[in-house]
Amino acid sequence: MEFAGDEYIEPADGLIHCKKCRGSRQTVVPRFGGSGYFMPRCLCPCQQKAQEERKAMEEQRERMERIKCRKAQGLQDRYLYDYTFHQ
Ligand SMILES: [Zn+2]
Repeated sequence: MEFAGDEYIEPADGLIHCKKCRGSRQTVVPRFGGSGYFMPRCLCPCQQKAQEERKAMEEQRERMERIKCRKAQGLQDRYLYDYTFHQ
């Protein structure tokens, strides 16, 4: 098991926690139909927040790209319009 620099093992539950928000970065899932359990990694609250912010920023960038595209298209249409108009 490897830890990132901002992680630690919480003695209370023996799971990996985040040093920043103290949230859990590991969760316990009972193994179906058998004994034992999985301990998969999960995102702590501050990681979730960072991920959401990243997603929001990507969406914003995509929106800007679409607007830029539309503007370029608009300029092209005007150019064509002027061109035909002057003939
Ligand atoms: Zn965190």
